[in-house]
Amino acid sequence: MVVDDTILLDYGMKPAEPPQYPVGGVRPDSVIVSHGHLDHCGVVPNLMDMKPDIFMTPVTRDLGGLLAKDTMKIARAKGQVLPFIIEDVRDFETHTNTVNYNTSFDASGYECTLYDAGHIPGSSSIFLENKSGSLVYTGDVDNRDTNLLGPAETLPSADIAIVESTYYGTEHNPRLKLEAAFINSIKATVDNGGWAIIPAFAIGRTQEVLMILEKYGIRSWVDGMGKDVYKIFKQHPAYLKDPELLDKAFKYADIVDGRERRKVMDEPCAIVTTAGMLNGGPAMYYLKHIYDDPLSKVLLTGYQVEGTNGRMVLERGHYEDKGRTIPLSTELELYDFSAHSDDSGLKEMVRNQVDGGCQLVICVHGDRTSDFAAWITDNLEVNAISPDNGDQIYI
Ligand SMILES: [Zn+2]
Repeated sequence: MVVDDTILLDYGMKPAEPPQYPVGGVRPDSVIVSHGHLDHCGVVPNLMDMKPDIFMTPVTRDLGGLLAKDTMKIARAKGQVLPFIIEDVRDFETHTNTVNYNTSFDASGYECTLYDAGHIPGSSSIFLENKSGSLVYTGDVDNRDTNLLGPAETLPSADIAIVESTYYGTEHNPRLKLEAAFINSIKATVDNGGWAIIPAFAIGRTQEVLMILEKYGIRSWVDGMGKDVYKIFKQHPAYLKDPELLDKAFKYADIVDGRERRKVMDEPCAIVTTAGMLNGGPAMYYLKHIYDDPLSKVLLTGYQVEGTNGRMVLERGHYEDKGRTIPLSTELELYDFSAHSDDSGLKEMVRNQVDGGCQLVICVHGDRTSDFAAWITDNLEVNAISPDNGDQIYI
């Protein structure tokens, strides 16, 4: 989103096959990035030739660099066009201004502040203000307490609120109940002589899942980019709820060295691995070993985006690997360890904004943004809209 043709809020890509990039050429003076997920920060290095002022938390900067290098690696391996070159990534890493929560800074004449969004370490909601008014962009936000992070901070209200809508219309199951069902399923699988493959996103989910496993005394292997992300998190302990518990979880797990991956299949066990949506990564190696083993199980741990293997396997019972369609005949389960506020959390956040004087709510980031906007207009008596990609809004 571009505000006043000058400030760009987030600049990500959609991790589908092939990846999708933002629409419309942008020439921002400033860029503020809410958090280090691919769909929010993935294409920022592509802007480096315009030399914008770039702001984000130090964790987001480090995650952004890691993801950018991974994006290049994947694009190269698949023969796709690279969205940027390594020099851009280096520029991004050296020229980004890192800012902490609750510390205001100037971007293109706006006074800006980042607030803890509780979604992944370093995730922020962004507040902008100048003499003509104020705007808040929630980014991805979670108002619940998890093992890895505390809940999102309450945001100050603004004239305009851009709110995420991911879980509009859906309530989350109570977290502890979900954890217990997840743990019981893993134990039963391994006790029966099967492998429990646990695909998990590298950023946030791998660490959260390992903390749950440690809490219940389940030893596991951990593989994929979640290991590198852990090293980044370790460097920013102030952005974690309990850095010592995270360390404990990683020490309790066995870390897979890519060269010794075969060893993991020696005896039944639990394996936490990327990619969380089965779109590549070591998860594909493990799937190859267990896809037709009736004793094994695949336990998905988050939302599966349209166009990914994870979504395909949920809806159609098969996935694709190197152009081949492979039916999955092991058991498949989905545990929604979401890092987003649910329906009531989103509505409470919008209600707070409206109570504080917000005059326009803009719903973004979800499958049902227009339904959410209609609900807000009908129930909170405030103007709410759900723009499409490429739309311009005049206020
Ligand atoms: Zn996110």
